[in-house]
Amino acid sequence: MLLLGNQVIQLSTEAQNALIERYAPHAVKPPPYAKFSAKTPSCVITVYNSGKVMFQGQAAETEAAKWGTPVAKKVAATSMLPEGFSDWSVVGSDEVGKGDYFGPLVIVAAYVPKEKIELVKELGVKDSKLLSDPEIKRIARDLHVTIPYQKATLHNPMYNKMQKTMTQGKMTAIAHNAALSALLDKLEEKPDAILIDQFAEKAVYYKHLSQERHIVKDDVYFSTKAEGLHVAVAAASILARAFFLKEMDKLSQTVGLTLPKGAGTKVDQAAATLIRRDGVDRLNGIAKVHFANTKKAIRLSELKR
Ligand code: MN
Repeated sequence: MLLLGNQVIQLSTEAQNALIERYAPHAVKPPPYAKFSAKTPSCVITVYNSGKVMFQGQAAETEAAKWGTPVAKKVAATSMLPEGFSDWSVVGSDEVGKGDYFGPLVIVAAYVPKEKIELVKELGVKDSKLLSDPEIKRIARDLHVTIPYQKATLHNPMYNKMQKTMTQGKMTAIAHNAALSALLDKLEEKPDAILIDQFAEKAVYYKHLSQERHIVKDDVYFSTKAEGLHVAVAAASILARAFFLKEMDKLSQTVGLTLPKGAGTKVDQAAATLIRRDGVDRLNGIAKVHFANTKKAIRLSELKR
């Protein structure tokens, strides 16, 4: 049996054009996210919209070497989903709050069967980063009654406790797996695939889960920017964002201070105010205390005394 090679290189637009010209006589129909594909007797060449060029087959290495130096294979593997994936019945999962000092870490897994894809798009579901907070809240209310989903929330006290023995990546993996496995349990049909908005390499993700009892691993795909690859991830992201916003409102009300999002200077200042008022222990219930913001806020609180 022949060992099939697989090489990926990144090329400038000019170099891509030169390559396309060279292989034009062998052109075939390109797959999704690709602008050109060619099939020679010993190699399949695919030029992706991202500028990545994949060489597959017996002559992959020698052909690729004519054009450039290979990039790490994992980069290519993560962004390549089967053809037609965006029309499949898919469970998507995404997390929110990982970079926010205040507030929980929220993971949502959401199921969009193929017959509901158009409806979900119709509700306004798209990349959550392009939506305002009020839009997120409105769309989440509609999604709540339209599709099955499951959330897993790590509130700050639990988050801080877990953080003592594991990385944020491991906590995130455990929470994704918990949300996915609970959602799969309540679905009446088996989805075609599961797509996780990639926060860790697949191997690392499963290493994090090695002590979990139920590990979801059938038909699982990982991709960065997965919100754009299937509407189920975009829906999961919007739901997670909405739950996060709701928690932030709740926490703000509890402490009597509007807690800023993110992890910037405003966050340091708000934390310093709370330390001066309530003491540093107050942060355990509302913030991810391992962030550098804690030390900065302690310093600030002492300066302004
Ligand atoms: Mn994400």
